[in-house]
Amino acid sequence: MAGIYIHIPFCKQACLYCNFHFSTNKKLIPQLVNAIAKEAFLRQDYLTETIETIYFGGGTPSILPTSDIVFLIDEIKKIFEVNSNTEITLEANPDDIDEANLVAWKKAGINRFSLGIQSFIDAELQWMNRSHNAKQAKHCIDLIKKYFTNYSIDLIFGSQLLSNEDWLVNIKTALSFNPPHLSCYALTIEEKTVLGNKVSKKVISNIDNEKQAQQFNILMKELAIAGFHHYEISNYAQPNFESKHNSSYWQSKHYLGLGPSAHSFNGSTRSWNIANNALYIQSIENNNLQIETEELTTTQQLNEYIMIALRTSGGINLNIIEERFGVTILLELKNKITAWLQANHIEQKNNFIQLTNLGKLYADGIAADLFF
Ligand code: SF4
Repeated sequence: MAGIYIHIPFCKQACLYCNFHFSTNKKLIPQLVNAIAKEAFLRQDYLTETIETIYFGGGTPSILPTSDIVFLIDEIKKIFEVNSNTEITLEANPDDIDEANLVAWKKAGINRFSLGIQSFIDAELQWMNRSHNAKQAKHCIDLIKKYFTNYSIDLIFGSQLLSNEDWLVNIKTALSFNPPHLSCYALTIEEKTVLGNKVSKKVISNIDNEKQAQQFNILMKELAIAGFHHYEISNYAQPNFESKHNSSYWQSKHYLGLGPSAHSFNGSTRSWNIANNALYIQSIENNNLQIETEELTTTQQLNEYIMIALRTSGGINLNIIEERFGVTILLELKNKITAWLQANHIEQKNNFIQLTNLGKLYADGIAADLFF
């Protein structure tokens, strides 16, 4: 099984915190869509497996004319062997969703949505510089539910504006729609973002880590009560609604990333496309793909496995550590985890090392401590 990720690098406006590759200049959309289709053709030998997931991410893929989505799905189906029940996800922003689009997307084969809701509070949405308001957020979920059963609501917690009471309102509002899936991310401050710039100039205060941890605890508690499976640190699903595409990343399955800045993985190497729309188009037109590749060393593969597996509910499989990396590494890892076990940050169930709820608050730090 393998997946295809398609990066659509256009947005209406720049969100305060955004660190993804995108442009608000939409002039290049037609050329870029053609370039992505050509990249799929040029790199058709990258994946030998059947395609079981296709994911349109960005940027804002829902900004594309629906005819472009139809075109790209059709081209991929012509080039690759695509399973008939392939999960095809479209990331969409609430202000792009209307009945006509939903009908067209469904006809094109889209069968899952990742909705960039982020908050149901107008003041916070404005602060984030999102292009939608709370009313549109709620309306778009109602519309989605008319046509699709499989969708995810994305929310952000821990922002400077969000009180714990506000966060509970956001969670309860999301749950009132009975969504099959939620992705909830802690706000982070990245250096080259508008938010990063304002925090460094002290125009906006820094993140309150303690409040963010409280909000993560509120989230885990509320979603556990609501019956969600916390299957990855930022992802919660009702039974059988885990994202197949994202899960394949965490299971080290192979994927091909198309479009500027998109990453690919084929088991031993990682590669990534140039993060510049004009140069990407030019390179594809000249049959001269601008791709950087990194061959992963055994230690890099080990650390990557530790980091990714620890974030999932399955945890680190000690059998895999022994089989892939040897008994010496296994013994060393067991030694490293002792203190975390004693501090109740991780627990061992049979041959699996998993984060406790306390440990989930410090996932990145624990992973870093376990690195080789
Ligand atoms: S819509 Fe998404 S990709 Fe675009 S600026 Fe906002 S967060 Fe970034």
